[in-house]
Amino acid sequence: MASGPDENGRERIVQASSPSNDAEKLAGDQALEERAQDMASDPESAEQTRSKDLRPRRFQEYVGQRAVVDSISIAVMAAKKRGDTLDHALFHGPPGLGKTTISQIIARELDSQLIHTSGPALERPADVVGLLSNLKKGDVLFIDEIHRLSHAVEEYLYSAMEDFRVDFMTGAGAFAKSINLPLQPFTLIGSTTRAGMLSAPLRERFGLAYHLDFYSTEELARVVTRSAGILEVDVSDNGAHEIARRSRGTPRISNRLLRRVRDFAEVRNSGTITDLVAAEAMEIEGVDALGLDRLDRLYLMTLSKNYQGGPAGIQALAATINEDQQTLEDVVEPFLLKIGFIIRTPQGRRTTSEGFDHIGLTPRLGGPTGQGTLL
Ligand code: ADP
Repeated sequence: MASGPDENGRERIVQASSPSNDAEKLAGDQALEERAQDMASDPESAEQTRSKDLRPRRFQEYVGQRAVVDSISIAVMAAKKRGDTLDHALFHGPPGLGKTTISQIIARELDSQLIHTSGPALERPADVVGLLSNLKKGDVLFIDEIHRLSHAVEEYLYSAMEDFRVDFMTGAGAFAKSINLPLQPFTLIGSTTRAGMLSAPLRERFGLAYHLDFYSTEELARVVTRSAGILEVDVSDNGAHEIARRSRGTPRISNRLLRRVRDFAEVRNSGTITDLVAAEAMEIEGVDALGLDRLDRLYLMTLSKNYQGGPAGIQALAATINEDQQTLEDVVEPFLLKIGFIIRTPQGRRTTSEGFDHIGLTPRLGGPTGQGTLL
């Protein structure tokens, strides 16, 4: 079953969370799908359920990631020209950088149906066999959080990806029978925040693999301006840049902050978002000048104060902060690493002198975190 068609009558997104047989494929209401996604990767952003309006629908609308877009759009055009299926593609990078969005664009540009599922939803081999056997020629199977597939399920994907067939056993004991089931050619798109957790055999079966990096302030200002246009919000250039600067390099955060700042501007101001209005609204939200939120600062403060700048293990940090380890590793750390506030060493995480500066602490000189001993 598919979600409603778009204005071109072409978009078909199917949500397959429990696909042990065709009848069990769940309808893919895109709003529900986005809510699940947003909650999974960013529990704070329930308001993102409305973000479907803001998702770019074509490569031209997709801001930034030029190298990735250039490469994948050529691969898509070439596959279309040959009447072939697109090679399997893997997108990795922190949450909210546009992995799902670009996958939906790919399916749309291919005029293909996108079947959306996730690693944790494919629990049993029967789930994946049911899903694969129901694919039609040229379908795009999108597996979010692909690093969370069980080993047993993963093994079925190997032959499916390579030879478009699955081998599975039916019956038991004397009645056991091996069945070789041919599949329709399809494209698998995997999305993950943890490329390192993918097994080598699975990784090698992706002909195309792309890393999505954090966006520049300039690019995020374009995202904000574009979203403001769709939401019919009046934002000045400076206002867009202020939101962009505080978005942790992440378009999903830009869109979320834009909504918060819009509320503030409508209630407290004339409705126009200037840099001053944006800065004031984001201070109230607990987002500082570099875009760090409360959790980022708590992490930095804990590592720098409780652990005197480290080295500290991620499990100890997670226990002290009382936060899920995966959230810290997937959401908090990548950006702190990117802006050079922490480093990862074999002994554990450490605060850099820039990190200490930001929270107004002085590294213990001569101690394990003293400037002279960093790196
Ligand atoms: P991921 O799958 O990597 O977690 P998503 O694809 O769900 O991220 O993107 C989150 C939101 O950010 C989308 O709803 C979309 O509105 C916005 N977004 C992501 N990438 C871009 C981009 N390149 N240009 C414009 N908006 C984007």
